[in-house]
Amino acid sequence: DNSLTIRDLRLRYAADDAWALAGVDLDLPQGRRLAVVGPSGAGKSSLVGALTRLYPYEGSITLGGTSLADWHGDDVRARIAVVEQQPYLFDASLRDNLRLARPEASDEQLNHAIAQAQLDDYVASLPRGLDTWVGENGIRVSGGEARRIAIARALLADAPILLLDEPTEGLDAGTAARLYKALAIAMKGRSVLLITHRLGGLSSLVDHVATMEQGRIVSCVTTEAYREGA
Ligand code: ADP
Ligand code: ADP
Repeated sequence: DNSLTIRDLRLRYAADDAWALAGVDLDLPQGRRLAVVGPSGAGKSSLVGALTRLYPYEGSITLGGTSLADWHGDDVRARIAVVEQQPYLFDASLRDNLRLARPEASDEQLNHAIAQAQLDDYVASLPRGLDTWVGENGIRVSGGEARRIAIARALLADAPILLLDEPTEGLDAGTAARLYKALAIAMKGRSVLLITHRLGGLSSLVDHVATMEQGRIVSCVTTEAYREGA
């Protein structure tokens, strides 16, 4: 059971701060594709921070009925794969950076993830292919490439839940459109929590849309109902 249940989730950055998350209730049943949409300051990043256990929180987050707080970091990462805007690229080859998600990955698994993340042409264009250095002392990686590297890692991690953090933020429309294909493939057979301040074309990827305002979920409807209401 990989259902994710969030109850009365509260988070603040200092004891005398206002609550950035002021009692979030949210359900992600297995197989659901849910977008969480809200304006700047609504609490979206704080929600991602709680889910990735970057920030301490009050209330409960359970995965398959077990509190996330009781899990080891590795076990959380095996169940929730995060596609970050700026994936961490350490000073090493692209191959090693991808393998971070699954150290024992075979070349075949690596190539499959690369193809699914729509990175084939990119890897082919690199001077040393997968052995090209991408970290601090390596080649520059564009926003769209970075996002697809994050998707390839998520595919290698093969987690049942995909957490997408503002996947098209800062990308031009053409780059964003190309990313949809990789995202749609990565989402197949997985539950998805998509965090974004602007749904736009991403709406075609989800079946439900939750709206966040001032640290709370104020509505959760089907994508169809959301489109009619918007
Ligand atoms: P969003 O991602 O939707 O823009 P955030 O989760 O970043 O929202 O912010 C929610 C609230 O928490 C805002 O009032 C914001 O100012 C506050 N906040 C966010 N990060 C910090 C931080 N590091 N320290 C103090 N307050 C913060
Ligand atoms: P905009 O507001 O600039 O249209 P969108 O995120 O809605 O931003 O779309 C960005 C680009 O992606 C547009 O060119 C749009 O036609 C295209 N697009 C939108 N949805 C999809 C999709 N599901 N698959 C492929 N391309 C899409």
